[in-house]
Formats: sequence, C-alpha cells, structure tokens
Amino acid sequence: MKNTHICPKCGGSDLVRIEGKVNQYGNVVLTGVTVFSAVPVQRYVCCSCGFSEEWFDEEHLDQLRSAFQ
Ligand SMILES: [Zn+2]
Repeated sequence: MKNTHICPKCGGSDLVRIEGKVNQYGNVVLTGVTVFSAVPVQRYVCCSCGFSEEWFDEEHLDQLRSAFQ
C-alpha cells in the first residue's frame, strides 16, 4: 500500500497514513530501555476494508538490525 497506493486486499485506493509518534499513544518499537530508543512505526490503513500494514522508515533500519539481529 505504501508503494502502490492500492489496498492489496480489496483493491481500494481510499488510504490514510498514520504517523508513528514517540509519545504515550504512539506506535513505536523500543530498541533499548529509554524513550530515546523508540523507533516510530508508520501505518497505512485502507478506509474501504480496514486492512492495515506497518512500515519502518529507512533511516531506522540499521538501528533495528543492531537491536534485534
Ligand atoms: Zn482494502
């Protein structure tokens, strides 16, 4: 959905991107013990069928690899 702008489940194009935010309500993955290690998760939601997928920004991939590999 991020790249095609089309929902792979229903073919819809009514999509929204929900920004991952580093706060108490945000969608993040912790790569350490403090809030400073939080990596935001970007969500793409199809407003036709409700399907969603999650992506990490490219700038955080090395940080995730180091933490979990
Ligand atoms: Zn859909």
